[in-house]
Amino acid sequence: MSLRARLALLYTLIVGGILLLFGTVVYVAVSVTLTRQIDNTLNTAAQKIINTMSFNSVGRIDAIISSPMDYGADVYIQLWGRNSRLLASSDNASQLKQPLDKAVLLASRPVRRDVTLDKLRMRVLTVPLTASDRYIATLQVGTRLTIVDAAQRVLLIVLISGAMVSMLVAGLAGWFSTRQALLPLEAVTQTALQITRADDLSRRIPYKGSPVDEVGQLINAFNLTLSRLENLFHSQRRFLADVGHELRTPLTVIRGNVDLMRRMDSTDLESMDSIQNEVDRLTRLVGDLLLLAQAESGKLPIAHRTVELDTLLLNVMHEMRILAHDRTMKLGEIDQVLVCGDNDRLKQVMVNLIGNAIKYTPKGGEILVGLGKAENRARLTVSDDGPGIPQEDIPHIFERFYRGEKSRTRSKDGKGFGLGLSIAYWIVRNHGGQIDVSLREPHGTIFCVWLPLVDGKCEDDPKI
Ligand code: ADP
Repeated sequence: MSLRARLALLYTLIVGGILLLFGTVVYVAVSVTLTRQIDNTLNTAAQKIINTMSFNSVGRIDAIISSPMDYGADVYIQLWGRNSRLLASSDNASQLKQPLDKAVLLASRPVRRDVTLDKLRMRVLTVPLTASDRYIATLQVGTRLTIVDAAQRVLLIVLISGAMVSMLVAGLAGWFSTRQALLPLEAVTQTALQITRADDLSRRIPYKGSPVDEVGQLINAFNLTLSRLENLFHSQRRFLADVGHELRTPLTVIRGNVDLMRRMDSTDLESMDSIQNEVDRLTRLVGDLLLLAQAESGKLPIAHRTVELDTLLLNVMHEMRILAHDRTMKLGEIDQVLVCGDNDRLKQVMVNLIGNAIKYTPKGGEILVGLGKAENRARLTVSDDGPGIPQEDIPHIFERFYRGEKSRTRSKDGKGFGLGLSIAYWIVRNHGGQIDVSLREPHGTIFCVWLPLVDGKCEDDPKI
């Protein structure tokens, strides 16, 4: 059943339930009031009759009966003596040959009952008359229930038809109002289907209502998800194209060199070197992809040993100085800093950041590296005076496979896969730290890595 139908049914049932409760209370209250009024009339009539009677010493009724026993056309009166002998009756009851309420004629205490006599519904009060604890006679006073029955019938019809109309109105109101409220959800469904059919993630769901109501929030969340998916698809498509390209180039080089050697029928050292370089490059790409896949799924094995970050940094700088060629690489502040972590992984972060600084800084540029402590954390900075990163690239550079437009065209140097920063990001994250980037004035980039300082001993430190 659709949500709309379910809501309409729910409204109908709620209104029906309330009206059933209300109707029952009204019906019972009216019935009780009417019955009480009839009982009062019967009591008064009985009392008046009893007041007109007197009994002699042997228990006989002496003086009945203020004649005639007439309390209105609707009041029937009978006085029954011992042995069920009719002693007196009102005019309207004279043709009745049997007691108004036969079943309780010999009751020892007053009884009020509804009875049907000759198809006539009546309420009958039966009062035993006694003198000195001796039974003398039974007085029965009855009245027709026609008006009460009619009133109850009309009330029942009014209540039932009122309830049905109200339920119908509630159901229809629920049906139409939920249609209005659910209309935007239909738009969501339609857009989602169109996106699936057309394979077009650039569509967004328009919504004219308030963005803070439930539907507005849902649509907003849906649109945000679409944006994220679109970005993801976009970067993955780019990645596939890039990886395809990156794989094809070395494979073509290897193939060319193998063909050459076959034609020359000898092993050429230069060709062997070229093949070796391309194989290294392929190995690096596959290694990066594997590492990233592990890091993202949280399965990257990371040691937790005390690492002297300053020593590690000096080593990395020493190794990389040769790559800097005619760029200057300077060491700014350097503090003795200990962190808990994985030496090799942290080295990889430094290599990636310094490598990028070298890669993106033109010849003659300057790369400044520093290590210190701030806010109870280790802070490693790598800054360069290269071209900097365009504002529109900054939010994405830590995403997998993301490469700035300039770097994409420049990647003919065969180095960048767009994975270096995301690998650094994941390694730092797995160490409980964070990495950020800012632009250096007048031009250039500053990467900053924050890591928690060592606090006591590290988990995997050798026990002494
Ligand atoms: P790549 O292999 O392309 O270098 P990275 O993940 O290391 O991939 O970097 C992502 C992108 O960030 C680069 O393509 C480049 O556009 C930008 N970038 C990173 N470091 C620098 C830097 N020091 N200067 C300028 N741009 C940089």
